Amino acid sequence: MHAPLRLTCRRAALAANYRWLSGLGHAAVGAAIKADGYGLGAQAAFDILAAEGCRDFFVSTWFEASHLGPVSDQISLSVLHGLGPNDLTSAAHIPATPVLNTPGQVERWKQIASDRPCDVMIDTGMNRLGLRPEQIAMLDGLTIHTLHSHLACADEDHPLNERQRRMFAEVAGLVNAERYSLANSAGILLGEPYHFDLVRPGLALYGGVPRAEADGLVVPVAQIEAQVVQRRQIRAGERCGYSATFVAKDDIEAAVINVGYADGYWRGFSSRGRAVVDEKMLPVIGRVSMDLVILDCSDVPDLQEGDWVELDFDLPRAAAQSGMSQYELLTGLGSRFERRWV
Ligand SMILES: *Cc1c(COP(=O)(O)O)cnc(C)c1O
Repeated sequence: MHAPLRLTCRRAALAANYRWLSGLGHAAVGAAIKADGYGLGAQAAFDILAAEGCRDFFVSTWFEASHLGPVSDQISLSVLHGLGPNDLTSAAHIPATPVLNTPGQVERWKQIASDRPCDVMIDTGMNRLGLRPEQIAMLDGLTIHTLHSHLACADEDHPLNERQRRMFAEVAGLVNAERYSLANSAGILLGEPYHFDLVRPGLALYGGVPRAEADGLVVPVAQIEAQVVQRRQIRAGERCGYSATFVAKDDIEAAVINVGYADGYWRGFSSRGRAVVDEKMLPVIGRVSMDLVILDCSDVPDLQEGDWVELDFDLPRAAAQSGMSQYELLTGLGSRFERRWV
């Protein structure tokens, strides 16, 4: 049976983004593949990036780690949420390394595996996950593979960036680890002083543009397509969609397509989003419904029922139109899409 929605991802684009990021400095480049590879497929991203030479992968949970196929011992897979009270069995069986975030996680690790290398997260000002710098004494005796911290505002020019970088450099001088790592995608673009030994991009690999410096340099990875369910005429003065928010000024032709907010095509695209057919932009008119979107297709006279329509999913533009972040747009793409890597 054919799926009515297509999400097509380009291997060459993912690989090109990896190579571009690798060229921005001297640090090793890892990859965040959490949330099923930002919604595009963690296993595919893992396979493609490993073939590009990526050796460090990050998932959020042991559950995510357990869904990856075999991980060779050349590759390090880290679990960002660390070692919770319910993770001991997983940690004993899954070939991944916890990123220890709390004093409790450090204690737990010391009890079960203090001879195995671990990663550690230091909080340098985000106050999300990680040990406070004054808690580092408890790391004595651990073999730390990578010491991490994470930037709160790397996508902005914010004074916290430099403060976090300095604090991390200070902690790095006090904690012995094989490698040190601070930057996500946006952090990489803040320049080499932010790179340390390893960077951890996610968004930019998948075609997101984390800062203006990357405009035009990141290759889009994901393309989404839906099918026309009905083509109809809307007469001047008539309305369309829920709440009748759109009023036709003239007679227009409309194409109703089979995608909606249940698929992650959010209501913010109402009267703002666009589709692309034969290089013509077809505006979304009226409200996005759960499963349907109405387009003005007056410019494409031969568009008919069953035809495929590409939605404009340029991430920075779609984020501006919908009021969602690029991260939400990617990770929100629903289960009704048939995901294909070409
Ligand atoms: C998700 C995540 C990343 C990747 O961030 P992007 O902004 O997608 O590049 C890096 N580090 C940590 C700790 C993360 O949680």
